[in-house]
Parts: sequence; structure tokens; C-alpha cells
Amino acid sequence: MNENSKLYEDLDRILVTREEISLKVQELGERITRDYEGRSPVLICILKGACVFFTDLVRAIDLPLTMDFMAISSYGSATKTSGVVRLLKDLDEPILGRDVIIVEDIVDSGVTLNFLRQVLIQRGAASLKIAALLDKPARRKIKDLKVDYVCFDIPDAFVVGYGLDYDQRYRNLPDIGVLSPAIYEKP
Ligand code: 5GP
Repeated sequence: MNENSKLYEDLDRILVTREEISLKVQELGERITRDYEGRSPVLICILKGACVFFTDLVRAIDLPLTMDFMAISSYGSATKTSGVVRLLKDLDEPILGRDVIIVEDIVDSGVTLNFLRQVLIQRGAASLKIAALLDKPARRKIKDLKVDYVCFDIPDAFVVGYGLDYDQRYRNLPDIGVLSPAIYEKP
């Protein structure tokens, strides 16, 4: 899909291009490959937002990793977090004794990842790290949340694309852009 697509008309601006994403994801994959040398981590994709990032990231990691999937909901269709996290789909495999890497689309308040971190530590993960495509540090509420790997720090704006949605749309945009407020402020 190119930028003449109608979907792009709903963006105020492109924040991160597909080329920038591709470079960073490759770099992150190489870093994780080095950090986990000799180990076999399980990468957990947090559905649905992280799905596009996840599929690119795992292919950039040269390790005998395994994959699992979890679905949670914290937003509904609004653009502000509800602060309430619901588990919609659990992992298929136990993670007892495993080196776990949570792969998330974006860290905002940190409430979602804090919840997930606690759940997975309670289940006996040997180690746990967090990889996020985007971080909005200005909006963090959970101050001591450690995000080990971040591709891009972004300003406080509502973004879509590369897996991130508004009301389930725009996930298939190859770039990340700021959604025009006119779209979500419609009566
Ligand atoms: P937190 O719990 O850190 O406040 O929120 C994390 C979740 O909120 C993300 O996984 C994502 O689903 C959603 N979120 C936060 N900021 C944005 C944004 O700018 N755009 C989109 N599409 N989702 C966001």
C-alpha cells in the first residue's frame, strides 16, 4: 500500500515511516539475538496491536525461539485508556522456567504491561523482558515499569498503523501516523 491510499487521508501526519520501522526492527532483532545467545526465549505477542511488529521482529531474531499469543483489552474503541485490563485469550503453553519476552505495540500509562508482567512472573518465568515498538514516556503512570527494548519514543498523540488501530481500523497501514482528531471527535 502506498501513501496515495484513501486510508492515509485520515492522518494528520506520518510520524514513523516504513523504512525507519524496518531498520529499527532489524536492529532490535540483532540485539535480542546477542542478548539471548545460547538460549531459547519465548516471545509473547500481545494481540492484536503487536501482531505486525511481532511477525517482523521474530524474523529478525536468529535464535531457536518459540512464539505464543495473548489477547487483552484495555481501550475499547476510545482513544483514552480505561485503566482496566481484561484477559481475552491466554497463552497456549506454560512459561515455567522460560525466558520470556513480551512484545507489545505501545507503552502509554504502563498499566497494561504492569498487569502482564505481574501475571507472567507469578507463573514462574525464569526471566522477563519487555519489547515495545513505541513508547509515550510523557504519559507514564507506572513510574517503575522497566521497558527493556523500545524502537521509538513518540510524543503524546494518538497514533495508528503498523498494527495499531482506531476502532479496529488502520492496522494495515505500513507506516505509523497521527490520526486526525476529526475522525474520533465525530458526533
Ligand atoms: P497503557 O496500559 O500503557 O496505558 O496502554 C497500552 C495500550 O493502549 C496499548 O497496547 C494500545 O492498545 C493502547 N494505546 C495507547 N496509546 C495508543 C495510541 O496512540 N494508539 C493506539 N492505537 N493505541 C494506543
